[in-house]
Amino acid sequence: MEMTTRQKLRREFNRFLLRRLPPCKEIAMLISQSLDRRLGLRERLVLRLHLVACRPCERYLQQSEFLSSAIDVMNDDEKEALYEGALSASARERIKSALRSAAPLAAFTCLFLG
Ligand SMILES: [Zn+2]
Repeated sequence: MEMTTRQKLRREFNRFLLRRLPPCKEIAMLISQSLDRRLGLRERLVLRLHLVACRPCERYLQQSEFLSSAIDVMNDDEKEALYEGALSASARERIKSALRSAAPLAAFTCLFLG
């Protein structure tokens, strides 16, 4: 399919940005850290600029935030059970319904929790 001039400009702009920013591997680490602590000004700026140009990292951020919110609604026993692969049916339902009402990526987590 033929790209429009606008799509070509967008692609060139994204390449321009990404050549000047840290690679996705480093951005993924920043994304993980952003869930645990407040990033510094420079880190936030680098992250935001990278996300403007990189769809996969943007998705990774959304999914990470979503999973983090899923973990937040679990108590310690449920977290333990999740890691052992033995989450009870009632806990699954409770977590799913909390996420359905809160988050845009509910379908993803419903798949994740089975
Ligand atoms: Zn990226």
